[in-house]
Amino acid sequence: MKPRKNIIDSKHYQVVDKAFTLKLDANESYNYLTGNTLSLKDIEYYPDHQVKTLKEALSKHIDIESKYITVGNGSSELLDLLFKAYLEKDDVVLAFDPTFSMYEIYANIYQANYIKVPANDDFKMDMDQMIKQLPLNPKMIVLCTPNNPTGYQIPRKDILRLLNLTQALVVIDEAYMEFSENDTSMMKDILMYNNIAVLRTFSKAFGLAGARLGYMVGSLDITHVMNKIRSPYHVNALSQQAGLIALENKANVFENIDLIKQTRSSIKIELENLGFKVYDSQCNFIWVKSPYKNLGKSLEDKGILIRDYSSYQTDYYRITIKQKTDMDIFIKTIKEIINETK
Ligand code: PMP
Repeated sequence: MKPRKNIIDSKHYQVVDKAFTLKLDANESYNYLTGNTLSLKDIEYYPDHQVKTLKEALSKHIDIESKYITVGNGSSELLDLLFKAYLEKDDVVLAFDPTFSMYEIYANIYQANYIKVPANDDFKMDMDQMIKQLPLNPKMIVLCTPNNPTGYQIPRKDILRLLNLTQALVVIDEAYMEFSENDTSMMKDILMYNNIAVLRTFSKAFGLAGARLGYMVGSLDITHVMNKIRSPYHVNALSQQAGLIALENKANVFENIDLIKQTRSSIKIELENLGFKVYDSQCNFIWVKSPYKNLGKSLEDKGILIRDYSSYQTDYYRITIKQKTDMDIFIKTIKEIINETK
């Protein structure tokens, strides 16, 4: 039995499944949370279908009424639902390139016409280039800011410029915004523009990647559509509880974010001293060009995983920034590799 043709042709999300001592390939963060999690007995019943308590806590956290919030099974699920709800076959979706690979995968699943707007040579995303594509009449534009994998953050004024020129659904993926030195969130702008959906996740800054928890802030129209098409009880009770605990421990979470930001600056300098090209990043990872061939493989042989982008551009990598002690091991290992290949 064959699935739809576009499913046969579509690529799947790449997850490296290798043994490791240090995992710097998927932008997870540690968490130092404590709190009462549910017991197995507590999950005899279906979870809160409306995710009310977590939405109330989120509403306080982001200072936006809970009626504009949709919680999802990871922000990946919310992306999937947005593509599913709004795209007809052959509809144009615009996104900068490179960016988070799932946008293209979802577009292909729903048979949309995914058009990549290349970033500049320095990986900055030029909104004029995006605006030039508006005559293609996009149904959806996806902006990832700050961007995975390059760490580049789109200025607010550029996003506002775009919003004033298009009626397309503009999906703004802010998965990494908590790591930015300059919060340019568009969450509050949903009150002015009914065609934006802003996505956030607990997987990165909150250190809950394993819980699969994300949220969307959008107009009441978009929120209503999402509620119509989501599966029953799509956010499990354990994850709802984990999200609540994370928000109760916000101070602890933000202390960790500060440490990651400090380490991001020091690692940039250390790698530059070793001859790497390191791009400015506002995320919990850095985007680098390695002067050493096959660095990803050499690190992997020593138990350290980083994300290899060679299939996009040779010697480019995305490296998650974790605690200082982890990054010291990472730098020490690179130095060992350099010495061994001399
Ligand atoms: N958006 C971006 C930009 C990401 O990098 C990721 C995860 N790699 C996601 C969304 C999905 O996050 P999650 O489903 O874990 O919330």
